[in-house]
Amino acid sequence: MNEVKKPKKSLFFYYGIVLLALLLFNFLAMPWLAQRQAQEVDYGTFLDMAENKELGRVEVQQQENQIIFTNQDNTAIYKTGMMPDPNLTQTLKDSGASFEGEIIQQSDPILSFLLTWVLPIVIFILIERYITKKMMQNAGGPNAMMFGLGKSNAKVYVKSSEGIKFSDVAGEDEAKENLSEIVDYLHNPNKYREIGASMPKGILLVGPPGTGKTMLAKAVAGESNVPFFSISGSEFVEMFVGMGASKVRDLFKQAKEKAPCIVFIDEIDAIGQKREGQFGGNDEREQALNQLLTEMDGFEENTGVIILAATNRPESLDPALTRPGRFDRRVPVELPDLKGREEILKVHAKKVKIDENVDFGKIARMASGASGAELANIINEAALRAVRDNRRFVTQSDLEESIEVVIAGYQKKNAILTDDEKKIVAYHEIGHALVAAKQTDSAPVQKITIVPRTSGALGYTMQVDEGNHYLMSQEELENKIATLTGGRAAEELIFHSASTGASNDIEQATKLARAMITRYGMSRDFDMVALETVTNQYLGGDASLACSAETQTEIDKQVVTLVKLQHEKAAKILEENKDKLDELAKYLYEKETITGDEFMSILNA
Ligand code: ADP
Repeated sequence: MNEVKKPKKSLFFYYGIVLLALLLFNFLAMPWLAQRQAQEVDYGTFLDMAENKELGRVEVQQQENQIIFTNQDNTAIYKTGMMPDPNLTQTLKDSGASFEGEIIQQSDPILSFLLTWVLPIVIFILIERYITKKMMQNAGGPNAMMFGLGKSNAKVYVKSSEGIKFSDVAGEDEAKENLSEIVDYLHNPNKYREIGASMPKGILLVGPPGTGKTMLAKAVAGESNVPFFSISGSEFVEMFVGMGASKVRDLFKQAKEKAPCIVFIDEIDAIGQKREGQFGGNDEREQALNQLLTEMDGFEENTGVIILAATNRPESLDPALTRPGRFDRRVPVELPDLKGREEILKVHAKKVKIDENVDFGKIARMASGASGAELANIINEAALRAVRDNRRFVTQSDLEESIEVVIAGYQKKNAILTDDEKKIVAYHEIGHALVAAKQTDSAPVQKITIVPRTSGALGYTMQVDEGNHYLMSQEELENKIATLTGGRAAEELIFHSASTGASNDIEQATKLARAMITRYGMSRDFDMVALETVTNQYLGGDASLACSAETQTEIDKQVVTLVKLQHEKAAKILEENKDKLDELAKYLYEKETITGDEFMSILNA
């Protein structure tokens, strides 16, 4: 019902405005226009004309303090200001003019009629037509039906115009395997029909941002050589209730006409969020969602329309959307592992001129945790750096530097640390590295630097995982916390004071310790009880506590104890290796950047 009301209301509003304009025009503009046409003369001329009996008709406008008059044959109009003249009536009478006070037609009657009535009506009709056209477009009327003309926002890629194939998407082997079934189905639907198997209607690609979900969807279309409709979920959310729904209808109508085809809805959580029965709900979004649900039920099996959707918040989707028969298949598109990262780097490296000796394996190890989009960005940053330095191709050092740019920002060119600060930073970084190296389970150090970065970091220690790590033991986590506290421990040992440089370490150490207790069941008191739930798995992994206030207090206590214990352990390691700490810090202070190999050789000397 709402669908119709709202637009109507606004149409009346426009009618009102036009009527008002019409009235104003007639009452104000017309008399003004008319008067503009009278020729102004002085009072003497008026008296002369009266005396010579040259006046035609006269109108005395007391209020405006003026006299409007015509010549004898009414071919010209004049006006003059009034004078205090008691004989005016007599003069007029003697002149033989007619002065009954009737309104004189001052302008051309046809022009006047056109201006007063025809022009406003024409304007009125034009405005009305414009508004109606606009509404038709928005509501998915006849104009909106022509997809390719951009009336509806879905982009269509007919016959894989972008040419993306599975081979362009590096890594993600499981996702590709899963999707290649769809490709096979689109190539050869009969094979499936004969047995009676039906393809899932909707496939949900879930994973963190930048892992290649859009690319995979395009690759499916490219491989199966069918049209590809792409639209973002947010485009369905319109200002007027009901318009998003009609856009959904429109999209599916188009898709069915072009079947077999693939419809890709990016960021589906924009319309697919859980519906909540509370006040102030988003009517428009819910109507669009309802329409989507209906459409997905609507088309019979095997029509050949396959819907792919991407989201990084699968837990926020409405259960009706993920039930069997709708988006029932879920394909995880995770952050790439070591091998995946290396492959992605190689795929993107093909687009730039690159040194033959580049060790992609090493770059992939350094960029642990990077998404496909970040890796593509690293290659591009490296290419830009090569251009800046007037080199013809990208080298290993370009790539290594660009990883640091992506992680920590650019080098700050004119940040000047005082001598004391530089010493503190050097000890702080060596503290981290030394604690990491002395605990056998910690990953070896790749590089240590005390060159300030635009991110605000005054220095950092880059640790490198040698292989893939899927599980972490309690001991490894504890060691990690100890490594994080190593920086502060070194400052305390040498300078007997603390600095603000450890804030990031503190944050990370606390987060780890808290997760160990509340999520990983690594405390004796709470055993295997979940005290926290993760809400945004793919977007930073925020967690919310699910326990009583008393338990929270106890958790806080245990977190403090855990971190304190590791801090003490780090302090002990550094104390036992104070000579090495001094030696390494001095070396780093002088050289500003040292590699992991240099560090290890001094440590083992
Ligand atoms: P998402 O949709 O998951 O946010 P996209 O598919 O839009 O991510 O990927 C963004 C960019 O990242 C792509 O254009 C591509 O350059 C790069 N990229 C991401 N994953 C891969 C991959 N597996 N192989 C190659 N390039 C990738």
